[in-house]
Amino acid sequence: MSARDGDGAGKNGAHNGGAKKGGKGLDWQAIKDQYPIADIIGQAITLKKRGNEYQGLCPFHAEKTPSFQVVPDKDFYHCQGCGAHGDVVDFIANFKGITIGEAIDTLTGGASIDQSPEDKAVRERALAKRREDDERETAKAIAKARKGWQSSLPADPHHPYLVRKQVPAHTLRQTPDGMLVLPIYGDDGEVQSVQIIDDNGKKLFIKNAPTGMGRMYIGINMGRTILCEGYATGATIYDAIPEQVCVTFSLGNMEKVARSMVADGRSIVLAADTGLATEKMLALGEELGVPVVVPPTGM
Ligand code: ZN
Repeated sequence: MSARDGDGAGKNGAHNGGAKKGGKGLDWQAIKDQYPIADIIGQAITLKKRGNEYQGLCPFHAEKTPSFQVVPDKDFYHCQGCGAHGDVVDFIANFKGITIGEAIDTLTGGASIDQSPEDKAVRERALAKRREDDERETAKAIAKARKGWQSSLPADPHHPYLVRKQVPAHTLRQTPDGMLVLPIYGDDGEVQSVQIIDDNGKKLFIKNAPTGMGRMYIGINMGRTILCEGYATGATIYDAIPEQVCVTFSLGNMEKVARSMVADGRSIVLAADTGLATEKMLALGEELGVPVVVPPTGM
């Protein structure tokens, strides 16, 4: 029994205990082989090829920059923004708001997964509502982060994390219960989130407060800014070279901030972390025409 037998497979699947994955009588792999995930999802949303993957705007949450990926080699889609994840059948089920069984019927029956204008209108209303909810949540989270930053005290220079990393507390604060608080400023220079570091060095962010394009500066801009990922690296660099350091909190965000600063005509240096980060930053530095410093081997 295989999905290649034609419409019978879909019907069987639909009646097979809700056609849970691996359900008997349904050749799951055959369905995936016969209906390539990128082709099917590409009927519903615009996908752009990037290497072996495809990217597009996520249909399951409101976004302006693509965080929805389709990975044909692994037969799945994944959204880094909202966590939506699944295979070709899951996609149809979620996209159309139908059961797995109905999704298999749609697929194997050859029905287009394109939506009717009515379905589209319903979907767009739902997304608009979601966008409003998201914006409200974000505003609340930013307010929480700002309040947390404003109400915290200057950091103790002997905080266990700082002592272990052997770095001073440049512009850091701490909560009454001793967690380090690092401000994350947005492009507009306002605090949009904070990073919290506990005694063990565990790093946390405020839920729903935006970290994208966020950064924290150490020192003043004297013509050049050195970008890095984490605070400890930044503080170490700043103490060795008293030039402005910009902590970007993650590798992906470091790339975003770097691109934006170069577009603004700012003079920057990329200070790469070890491993994959070194490779990525060397490539980015070459692309943007900016110098990259890499950690000495063995660090
Ligand atoms: Zn999403």
